[in-house]
Amino acid sequence: MSGALISESFVSIQGEGRLTGVPSWFVRFSGCNLRCAWCDTPYASWDPEGDKRSVGELVDEAKASGVAHAVVTGGEPMIFPQVVPLTHALRDAGIHVTIETAGTADQPEVHADLMSLSPKLANSTPAGDPRDPSGAWAVRHEERRLNIPVLNALIGRFPDRQLKFVVSAPEDLAEIDSLLSHLEGWSPGDVMLMPEGVKSPDPASVQWVARTCIERGWRYCNRLHIELFGDTRGT
Ligand code: SF4
Repeated sequence: MSGALISESFVSIQGEGRLTGVPSWFVRFSGCNLRCAWCDTPYASWDPEGDKRSVGELVDEAKASGVAHAVVTGGEPMIFPQVVPLTHALRDAGIHVTIETAGTADQPEVHADLMSLSPKLANSTPAGDPRDPSGAWAVRHEERRLNIPVLNALIGRFPDRQLKFVVSAPEDLAEIDSLLSHLEGWSPGDVMLMPEGVKSPDPASVQWVARTCIERGWRYCNRLHIELFGDTRGT
């Protein structure tokens, strides 16, 4: 694909969000405008790697996979203009398309059947991270991680969407409430809380997440792929 790196493509089970459990073909754009401290795909953000691949090649692979769902992820797929022809070609092939994005960048012509937005909270900022010795990425990340106009544009354009928040402590709720107060058109059933971590959480440590979801009509989001395959590439 001219101008865009793809770090990997594979068939697995969707592990997160409202399509959890659905066999899916994944394509991961390599490159991101953020640098989350806990990023679980550093090979597509902190240290982007991959190969340039054409839309035609990728769509042929998706069709040959035999699954009916595609997940376009990253990295940050929405910083790459190539996400537009790719998602249109997947749709034209009769494949359901989910885009997974932090919601900081838009491509107005992009197609998605499910827009999966994962706005990044303050717990994502890589303060003091040894991978960022000058601190430049921590500053950039903090400036970029929330983009209210883009989030509102994507919520408005995609009636099937979800707002997935990675949470590490109850203190994160105040930031989520503040952000939601600036967003329009969402409903409680769109909001998902996903405990931070690359291992299945200790149940006692996530009871507060479950209780919050019950109280507010939000959804608890686990990571089924971690339970099935562990924290490994290609899953
Ligand atoms: S936005 Fe996603 S891909 Fe980018 S650094 Fe954060 S977790 Fe990693």
